[in-house]
Order: sequence, then structure tokens, then C-alpha cells
Amino acid sequence: MLRSALAPFAAHEEQSRGRVYTEAPAAYRGEFQRDRDRIVHSTGFRRLVYKTQVFVNHEGDHYRTRLTHSLEVAQIARTVVRVLGLNESLVEAISLAHDLGHTPFGHAGQDTLNTCMRDYGGFEHNLQSLRVVDHLEVKYADFPGLNLTFETREGILKHCSTRNARELGEIGERFLQRRQPGLEAQVANIADAIAYNNHDVDDGIRAGLLSIEKLREQALFDKQFSAVRRQYPDLEGRRLVYEIIRRMINLVVTDLIDTTQAKLDDLNLASIDEVREYGSPIVSFSEQVQKEHVSLKGFLMKNLYKHDKVREMTDKAQQMVESLFAHYMADPAHMPKEFCATASRGDASEQARVVADYVAGMTDRYAIAEFERLN
Ligand code: MG
Repeated sequence: MLRSALAPFAAHEEQSRGRVYTEAPAAYRGEFQRDRDRIVHSTGFRRLVYKTQVFVNHEGDHYRTRLTHSLEVAQIARTVVRVLGLNESLVEAISLAHDLGHTPFGHAGQDTLNTCMRDYGGFEHNLQSLRVVDHLEVKYADFPGLNLTFETREGILKHCSTRNARELGEIGERFLQRRQPGLEAQVANIADAIAYNNHDVDDGIRAGLLSIEKLREQALFDKQFSAVRRQYPDLEGRRLVYEIIRRMINLVVTDLIDTTQAKLDDLNLASIDEVREYGSPIVSFSEQVQKEHVSLKGFLMKNLYKHDKVREMTDKAQQMVESLFAHYMADPAHMPKEFCATASRGDASEQARVVADYVAGMTDRYAIAEFERLN
């Protein structure tokens, strides 16, 4: 059943905790819609197209990039919130912004940058996504960053260490007080996992690193494989793969909606604050699907993300990020003027943060070009 009105426990714009810098309302757009639009207009968003999800962009035109990944997250999340009576504009804003803080070269880039930053407060991609929208986007005359609403920022900051949470003010409070974010943030978080679990199966098969035979060890995959085989005994190649994956997505999304809806019916919450006060996340799969979903995630970790071919790329990425970081630390003048000026004003730790911001913002191809220029 599709509802038109927002449920009482959804994020309602009238009850928003607002923006850091007060702004007059827009004539024809709601506040969360405005957040979404600002994210789509941001420089960081455009860069996502040249940032690695798992496979480096130049390895092939059909692999997911951070941009297409973010679009898949948004569409899964929108489907879910529409049924549950949650706020669609908000979930779209969170989904489109959730990976803005990712470095070039995927997790390899982020892990390396975190190591480079170990004496200067570390590097976390979630926190970096928030830094991008709060500080690093330079677009508006009246304020730094995009000045997004509290609810969008709350959704972007998925995890955060206690130490960092203390420095973040009201947006960090929930990590200290062990509160939950709103339901839209919870949906975007799981939609992220649904998207990558499924598209990485597709990309892994396309790259020849995963086989259908091996994937059949996974219950989620095997059940849909068997169902497709029964219905289309002769189906082969890409069509077989697509048919299995679209059914896997459909199954987990349906399970997520049904399980969460049943919980919400049970809890009968009156507001987003009751969601925040509730002791654990409400948006969830059934136990069975949760088990199979986590198992597939582990399978991908072992067989795809740690595959020798992917590791080769990972090792190169590590070398490049380390080298870039060392060069800019040794001589900030290698960076563009604005970055160099800020870096030169501060102590080593402030300089390192500027360098991390600069390196994290790079696309894969820009990082490669810079690496070649400096070496
Ligand atoms: Mg993601």
C-alpha cells in the first residue's frame, strides 16, 4: 500500500532542527528538497563519477562508480521510505551525499589516508562526508559549506569515534548519548549495503573474479539462481546474471519493508524523537535475510575485495596516496593556492588536515596525474 501522507514518526519539515545559518524559506521547494538540490549542484557530487567503488574507473565503462552507486542507494531508499510513510526528499538527500567524503581508489585510499593521518587525528570517510557539506564546498556568499538541515547532516554522519563526536557539537551528541538517528537515516544506511552487496556481485562477475558456481554457495544468490533456472532453463550470460540480481534486490528490499513495517506497527511511535530515543535501530531485515545478507557481504570481502587482481590496484593506490600526502606535507606549495595558504598558517596537525582534505577530494584520475607530476 502506498501512502501519501507522512507518518508521525517520519522527519517532518516543520519540526526540523534547522540549519546552522538561518535562511529564508524557498518559494517552491521544501527544506529537504533544497538540501538534495544543493548536494546535486555541489562540486563533490560531480567528482563521484571519477571515484572508485571497487574497480578503478578506467578499468571499464560498465563498472559502478561512486556516483552510480549513490544513485542506486537513493532509488532503493526512496522505494522503502515511500511505503513506510517516511520523508522521500530527506532520504534522497542523505543517500546522494553519503559517499561525498570518499577518497580516490575506494577503501584502499581511505585506509592509507587514515594511516598517513594517524598522528593528526586520523581520517574517517563518514566524518569527511560531513566536512565536505559543512566546510569544504565553497559556493554561497553567506556561509561556508552547503548549510544543510540537521536531519540531512545527522544521516550523513553514520559512524564517528567518541573523540570526534565530542568536537562536533549537537551533530555528535547522539554518539555520546547512544541515541539513534531518524528512520530516513537508518533506511539510507541499509540501502547502501543492499546496493553494494548486489552491484558488487554484478561487477565481480563482469570482471571475471566471481563465478556463478562459486556464488551458489551463498543462499541469497542460490535461491534466486534456482528460481530463474526453473522458469528459464536456457537463460545464459548477462541476462541470467541480471535476472538473478534483480530478484535478490527485490527480495531483500521487500523483506526490509515488511519487517520494518511490522516493528513500526508494534511500536506505535509518535515522533522522530521517539525514534531517536529508541534503544536500537528500527529499520532492519528479518533474522533469516539478515543472516544471508551478512554472509554475502563476508563472501564479497573474501573473494572480491581481497582478490589478487583487486589487491594489485589497492597496492598501487596505497603507494600513490602515501606519496601525495608526503609531497604536500613536505611542501604545501605543491597544492593550489587556497589550500597552500591555509596549510601554511597552521601547525603540523592543521597542515595535515588540509592535505587530507585536498587528497580526499581528488578523483582517481586526478590523483594519478598528480602522482605522475610530482614523481
Ligand atoms: Mg556507499
